[in-house]
Amino acid sequence: MTVLVTGGAGYIGSHTVRALADAGESVVVIDNLSTGFSAFLPESVPLFIGDAADENLVEGVIASHGVDAIIHFAGSIVVPDSLRDPLGYYRNNTMTTRNLLSVAVRQNVNRFIFSSTAAVYGNPERTPVPEEAPTRPTSPYGSSKLMTEIMLHDVAAAHGLKFVALRYFNVAGADPDCRIGLATVGATHLLKIAVEAATGQRAKIDVFGTDYPTPDGSCIRDFIHVSDLAEAHRSALAYLRSGGQSATLNCGYGRGYSVIEVIEAVRRVSGRNFAIQFADRRPGDIMTMIADTSRIRGTLDWTPRFDNLDAIVTHALAWEEKLLHDRETSRQQAVPA
Ligand code: UDP
Repeated sequence: MTVLVTGGAGYIGSHTVRALADAGESVVVIDNLSTGFSAFLPESVPLFIGDAADENLVEGVIASHGVDAIIHFAGSIVVPDSLRDPLGYYRNNTMTTRNLLSVAVRQNVNRFIFSSTAAVYGNPERTPVPEEAPTRPTSPYGSSKLMTEIMLHDVAAAHGLKFVALRYFNVAGADPDCRIGLATVGATHLLKIAVEAATGQRAKIDVFGTDYPTPDGSCIRDFIHVSDLAEAHRSALAYLRSGGQSATLNCGYGRGYSVIEVIEAVRRVSGRNFAIQFADRRPGDIMTMIADTSRIRGTLDWTPRFDNLDAIVTHALAWEEKLLHDRETSRQQAVPA
């Protein structure tokens, strides 16, 4: 039994590959390396460089490796980009999954775990948000993921496939052993920006909006440590293998921190008092996004290990320092003697 992980060289994908490999699973990865890094994979895991939409490639990998389950991460994830290029997002997210599913059906691979997102909810009427809340995405990114969820329901009904769609809230942190982390250049995520400021790579951080009707006026998010999210995938796989029914599950901790609280945590943990600038609201931002986690806790055998903002910050900071150190070392090596 081998698990095919698409996008396994990316941020969340590579943490999941590690979690699976550490648990003794046989894993094979397809990744086009557009945002991923082959060095993020353990040596024991074969990497096929190519597109998850390439049916011939996927078919060959499934047949040659005895694949019994697919975990599908490959896709595009930048919300503002999706507003500029909706068709690109429908291609990379919705159409790619359609191709992948058609191979899965043909090859009788009937366990499928899908990276979905809290963006399918749009602006929630109330928080914590349960899975049955209305889905009204406000970006092509969210729509492309919601369309894929709908497709999964239909394929499951027609072909007996069982799926788990995991709706991620705000994913952050890095491998506690500092082997892998978020290495995307130009990432816009709050915690990434904050640790870049703490390590001197930015002069300051902007707080987008301080006039929201929240306790300190800034937005509130539910941050989940990437290693806990990886474990949720491993647990979802065990659930499907033991005969579990298809399920759509929120992935968060069910607790919110404000933007200002996150920045203060980075200042405290790093001991570096970088500048904070209060700025206008960022267009399109949702005020408060917190997961109702009752369903995932009742469905999967999953106990988060890092439900602690300081732990998330500590690991994100250690990873950022490592990235900086590695970059510095390669720059020095590039200078002729
Ligand atoms: N944010 C901020 N300054 C930054 C980056 C993000 O104030 O430099 C805020 C952003 O406006 C939002 C929250 O942090 O309210 C989380 O943003 P992020 O882009 O990390 O994730 P999102 O929840 O938008 O997917």
